[in-house]
Amino acid sequence: MFPGKEFLRLTIPALFSALALACTAGKPPDEAAETADHKALWLEPGSVRPDNEVFRRIKKAVDEIRIIDTHEHLISEQFYLELPEYSLFNWFRQPWFPQYSGADLVSAGMPLADLEALKDSAVPLAERWARVSPWWPFAKTTGFGQALRIAARDIYGLPDLDDSTWQELCRRMQEARKAEFYKRGLYDMAGVDLLILDQIVLEDPYAWSSFAAPDSKPRVVLVKRFYDTFIRPSRASLAEIGGNFGRPLESLDDLLAALDKEFEGMAASGCYVGVKCAMAYDREIHFEDVPRETAEKIFKRLLKGDLPFEERRPFEDFMLHQVVRRVSKYGLVMQIHTGMLAGPGGGNVTQTSPIHLYNFFAMYPETRFSIFHGGFPYMGELAVLAKNFPNVYIDNTWMPIISPSATKDWMQRWIETVPLNKIQGFGGDYIFPEGSYGHSLVARQILAEVLAEKVQAEYFSEREAIWAAKRILRDNAVELFGLKRFLE
Ligand SMILES: [Zn+2]
Repeated sequence: MFPGKEFLRLTIPALFSALALACTAGKPPDEAAETADHKALWLEPGSVRPDNEVFRRIKKAVDEIRIIDTHEHLISEQFYLELPEYSLFNWFRQPWFPQYSGADLVSAGMPLADLEALKDSAVPLAERWARVSPWWPFAKTTGFGQALRIAARDIYGLPDLDDSTWQELCRRMQEARKAEFYKRGLYDMAGVDLLILDQIVLEDPYAWSSFAAPDSKPRVVLVKRFYDTFIRPSRASLAEIGGNFGRPLESLDDLLAALDKEFEGMAASGCYVGVKCAMAYDREIHFEDVPRETAEKIFKRLLKGDLPFEERRPFEDFMLHQVVRRVSKYGLVMQIHTGMLAGPGGGNVTQTSPIHLYNFFAMYPETRFSIFHGGFPYMGELAVLAKNFPNVYIDNTWMPIISPSATKDWMQRWIETVPLNKIQGFGGDYIFPEGSYGHSLVARQILAEVLAEKVQAEYFSEREAIWAAKRILRDNAVELFGLKRFLE
């Protein structure tokens, strides 16, 4: 029987209060106790775990270190302020890219189309949360989820991110969208003095003018990518390169001369510290030393149009070698993505082991290679490479939130295996600053736990441990990237 109008008039208010009650309780009764009490307790300010004297002292010292953040994709504050919409859903799906926890939602079972709908401002916020809500209880327990819960708690003052807080979180995110938000989250709260920006949101017009300004806090310096331009050229990118070069490209010599010009421009700008290679997302990261004549022939064909990957691959290999040579010539650092690929989907992880890069490390002893993400899940391979090659450095950017425990475990092993000046301890690796803040707490905690355990095992003296912390979170990066000039 369909209820009559009178029945609805009388019962709707009652239904709403029952629903409201059900919403505060969160879930059906068997899950209610769990969700109602749930708070983001991990790394809560003021709580020190493990609660012992050695850890307390080391943690205090670690918390006082001003971080050099070796890897971010952040949009500039000006661009963030001008976005038509900024809400919780940007933490799952930015207008340009899916985000880590968004990929975890899909991994938990959310349809991909629902993730895509999160960036659509025409879809009401409540409808978007309804798509997230069934999957968030499973995604929020990963390191990615924890970083967001920490941000909701510390930046927006909410006990957790869940059915009862999401709406208020959206409201507070909108309210907090004011100038100096980045300074507060990144410089004041995360304690980042300088960050190295790998700009991937190319629509952001302010990366140069406002973000990398000398008085910005944190200070921002840049790395450049050549993949979609010089290494894997399209007709459009060749036309653009030709435009910058002053005339259309006719030969490989022209392309290499244009590449030289590009590096000279980077040097003249004064704010580049490296080159980033993220080719692991598209192909195996072994790059043969291809003869120039072979590259020349392929380039002639590329000038006429696109080629399938297998025919183009030797040209890509040749060009990355050309880039790597210039990286050392100009005193820059080569940052290379290895290991896990950001999802959803994730791509072919077997192509991403740092082992594939061994010929580079041997061929170019003058080039300094900073190998990303701790190689996760190829940490052991990276440990061997960084131990054997003086020009190979470990950067564990992203890894503390991919797996906090694996990072702790491997930080222990790297410290025992690889000289201490070759480990970079923090790269936020987010597009939005709240993620980098949450991530920074995780990275500091892990490092403090590792070093306290090393002191308790009498592997390190306390003084040595605190020195090691400062090397890993700051001094190693200052040395490797030559950052002193930006910090004075
Ligand atoms: Zn990244």
